[in-house]
Amino acid sequence: SAEKSSQAADAVGDSSPRLGTNNDQDEKPPQKNLCFKAAKEHDIPEDLNKVLENKVMETVSGLYYRNMSVVEMTGLGDADKEGIVSKSVSSHSDLIPGVYEGGLTIWECTFDLIDYFSEAEIQFTKKTVLDLGCGAGLLGIVALRSKAEKVHYQDYNSTVIDEITLPNAVANCVRTGSGVDTKTSQPPSKRPKKAEHLRNMLTRCRFFSGEWSEVSRLLLSSNKPFSKYDIILTSETIYNPDYYGALHDTLAQLLDKNGRVYLASKVHYFGVGGGIPLFEKFIEEKNVFRTSIVKTIDKGLQRCIMEMAFKYSS
Ligand code: SAM
Repeated sequence: SAEKSSQAADAVGDSSPRLGTNNDQDEKPPQKNLCFKAAKEHDIPEDLNKVLENKVMETVSGLYYRNMSVVEMTGLGDADKEGIVSKSVSSHSDLIPGVYEGGLTIWECTFDLIDYFSEAEIQFTKKTVLDLGCGAGLLGIVALRSKAEKVHYQDYNSTVIDEITLPNAVANCVRTGSGVDTKTSQPPSKRPKKAEHLRNMLTRCRFFSGEWSEVSRLLLSSNKPFSKYDIILTSETIYNPDYYGALHDTLAQLLDKNGRVYLASKVHYFGVGGGIPLFEKFIEEKNVFRTSIVKTIDKGLQRCIMEMAFKYSS
């Protein structure tokens, strides 16, 4: 829809910046750092009001999100090694020193995939879902609002999880949680208590940062019960062919045997080298998944939605 695309354009900003460490187009993120980026689970803070305190939220496609390109960042401190050090924001790569993988921006394929969910009537009810390379986490948030049983979010950068994904999840649960709001006309007896309802929605969520193989290892080795995902959603994550091995193995380790991956991507990422044909070839050679292109979007840069399932699945 026209309205959606103009909002999306605002939200995504430059749709083809260089991904990786800086603006130097020839430089790729150092592989070494990626391999050693440990995984971590981020606790949901006790005081949910604090999560949204002093945060300016905007909306796109009916979803709340924190627009980091306009937020003036003060008092964020060094949350961790990649803590935000810059107070005035000039470009995203200034925000997170070291390897930054693009999670501060909402990329346009996110909106392609959200559109596809409704067109193809993808069912999330009672499903376990992973939003892999989530950034803002809108895909996971849509799944959560569509009654997914569990939604896990992963981003490479822990600052993205703390400052963007978690606040976005909280904002969308608080303000829109399945249309349940204490200000609605429901009789008081039928109104779930707001805070309780929000907690309930959020208890269905878990948040992780770190490199894919490390996150996969953390999930599979954790004491907490873990069941493989029915649906893995991933948007704009196949730009760098150096990561295909880790991505492939993570999908193979974490997807339920009858699960589905919905992957949204530009056909070509100029400058970084990845894209649909290269990824398809990689997957084919590994011989674990079957893939099909379920939608092609020809407006602007050509983009696709790919569905993946295990070769032996039903
Ligand atoms: N899915 C979001 C969207 O569509 O707006 C963000 C896309 S952003 C371009 C790429 C995402 O993939 C980042 O959030 C980054 O953290 C994640 N990512 C890329 N390579 C990764 C890797 N090797 N390990 C873990 N995460 C990675």
